[in-house]
Amino acid sequence: MDNRLQQQFPMKQVTSLGVGGPAQYFFRPRTPEDIQWALQFADTKGLPVTVIGYGTNLLVLDGGIPGLVIQLADSFAYARVDGRELTASSGCLYSSVSKLAAYHGLSGLEYAVGIPGGLGGALFMNAGAYEGEIGPLVKAVRFVTADGQGAWQDGEYTYSYRFSRVQETGVVVTEAVLSLRPGDPEDILAKMNDLQERRRCRQPLDMPSAGSTFKRPQGHFVGALIEEADLKGYCIGGAQVSTKHCGFIVNRGGATAADIMQLIQYIQDTIRRQFGVELQPEVRVIGVP
Ligand SMILES: Cc1cc2nc3c(=O)[nH]c(=O)nc-3n(C[C@H](O)[C@H](O)[C@H](O)COP(=O)(O)OP(=O)(O)OC[C@H]3O[C@@H](n4cnc5c(N)ncnc54)[C@H](O)[C@@H]3O)c2cc1C
Repeated sequence: MDNRLQQQFPMKQVTSLGVGGPAQYFFRPRTPEDIQWALQFADTKGLPVTVIGYGTNLLVLDGGIPGLVIQLADSFAYARVDGRELTASSGCLYSSVSKLAAYHGLSGLEYAVGIPGGLGGALFMNAGAYEGEIGPLVKAVRFVTADGQGAWQDGEYTYSYRFSRVQETGVVVTEAVLSLRPGDPEDILAKMNDLQERRRCRQPLDMPSAGSTFKRPQGHFVGALIEEADLKGYCIGGAQVSTKHCGFIVNRGGATAADIMQLIQYIQDTIRRQFGVELQPEVRVIGVP
């Protein structure tokens, strides 16, 4: 067995919420060939496969993750710019990709500057903020499956709000080509600084979280609904509705995934009862209780 394959790896070390049980097997590939090797290893052993990036949108349950977890993070990070096209691998930090674009005077990714996590996770989630999202910028996506490598070209990466084709296909995304437009570097940086500042003012960036817990329901703002329901600061065990932004659940210390799940359900029940609005989690819940 490859010595980079670890057993009983504590997932709380690689998730921003800092909760969750162990992965049965854990692997950090460096190349697409490594990924293919890992997929074939899992196939031969009949193991389920879970792909993660930087774990900033994940709630890993306390029983951990059976099978193989493949993490595409800093060991799988490279990027290059060619004219208006920026090619970056899944392990690149989304915010670093945004800064690289700014450095080259390319506009379109300013909104991504404060979004944590990697490009792979961003492509899976069609991550975005402040009216921007990655979907419209995508020119091509490259991926690996157990059978080999493949790519989606122009228009084949389909997406909508916090949804992308990756979610339906189970491919391991390795890199994307983004199509950007030339801009004035000073304007780009000014916009990025402004958006960073807005985040710093409004979000609980000093506490472990997985960002917005719920997707935005049509016609409502999640944070406002939760605040109106008087749930600001509400706690179950170590899980708390952030006092800075009610759309976030934070780990105030010692939370378990079960605490967070219970709090999610409590919020959903309360909001349904009081406002008739159904809140859908944006955070991806994985593993076993
Ligand atoms: C403080 C804070 C603020 C945030 N703000 C925002 C925001 O403004 N907008 C926003 O959209 N999100 C936001 N998020 C959520 C999160 O940062 C994004 O969803 C991010 O894009 C996830 O990237 P990741 O690498 O951490 O992915 P992970 O959390 O590791 O994974 C997310 C999903 O993507 C899948 N995945 C990851 N990599 C791959 C790959 N290479 N191939 C196939 N599937 C893959 C995983 O299976 C999982 O289902 C925030 C989170 C935090 C903690």
